[in-house]
Amino acid sequence: MELDQHFVIDRKVLLRIVELAKIQKDEVILEIGAGTGNLTKLLVKKAKKLYAIEKDKNLFSELKKISNKNLKLIPGDALKVQFPDFDKLVANLPYSISEPLIQRLIYEDFKLAVLLLPENFVKIISGEKRTKLTEITKTFFELKLDRDVKPESFSPKPRVFSRIIVLIPKKPRNEKELIFMEFLKQTDKKAKNALREAIIKGGNKSGKEITKKEAKKFLRNFKIDKKVARLNLRELEKIKEFIV
Ligand code: SAM
Repeated sequence: MELDQHFVIDRKVLLRIVELAKIQKDEVILEIGAGTGNLTKLLVKKAKKLYAIEKDKNLFSELKKISNKNLKLIPGDALKVQFPDFDKLVANLPYSISEPLIQRLIYEDFKLAVLLLPENFVKIISGEKRTKLTEITKTFFELKLDRDVKPESFSPKPRVFSRIIVLIPKKPRNEKELIFMEFLKQTDKKAKNALREAIIKGGNKSGKEITKKEAKKFLRNFKIDKKVARLNLRELEKIKEFIV
């Protein structure tokens, strides 16, 4: 099983990640993939509370040696365990969970995430290589690109370059953005049903009462018969145009 165990050995990289997180004394931090605890030890000094998730049982036992009352270790898979409430997420992420984690973050309420990610993945979320995930990221987050990180900064060395990024959750600026966000969150529903629900919910949140019948009428020419999770970039763009 792939656990992406590439540990950061360049202290400058770790310090830059911590600096970007701008941790305040009263903030709760979540770390995913604590590994050997190199980042964990820096974060726990700054935060009111640090939750650190680690899947590897051996590394988890090692992490228990960090004795700090503000540190709560969580064993398990970060894609499955329930997240505690947190203010900021800071992680040198296991690269193979980058995409599902971004998908998961759209449901979370937090201030900021500082992540170390593979360069190729950053190209996707930043729009240099456009996919559906570019659209999802752009809809939910403001993205700031920070410095490149060379393979030599890790042990063992990964095959690819990495990059530090910051994600800041966006608030919808108007009803249409709100509807599109609500739509994207309903991954398991058929697109038409998800859009109907999103229109009703979006209307309610904006102080309008939209009935199911009205929403259905608005969608009478909507032809895409697929689940939201299975839509491709073109279809997503079409739906956005339909709403806006
Ligand atoms: N934080 C350390 C650092 O900065 O050097 C380790 C980062 S390493 C890239 C990723 C870590 O995530 C590994 O310790 C690995 O065991 C752990 N991991 C991999 N998949 C995971 C998952 N699904 N949930 C939680 N931890 C995971």
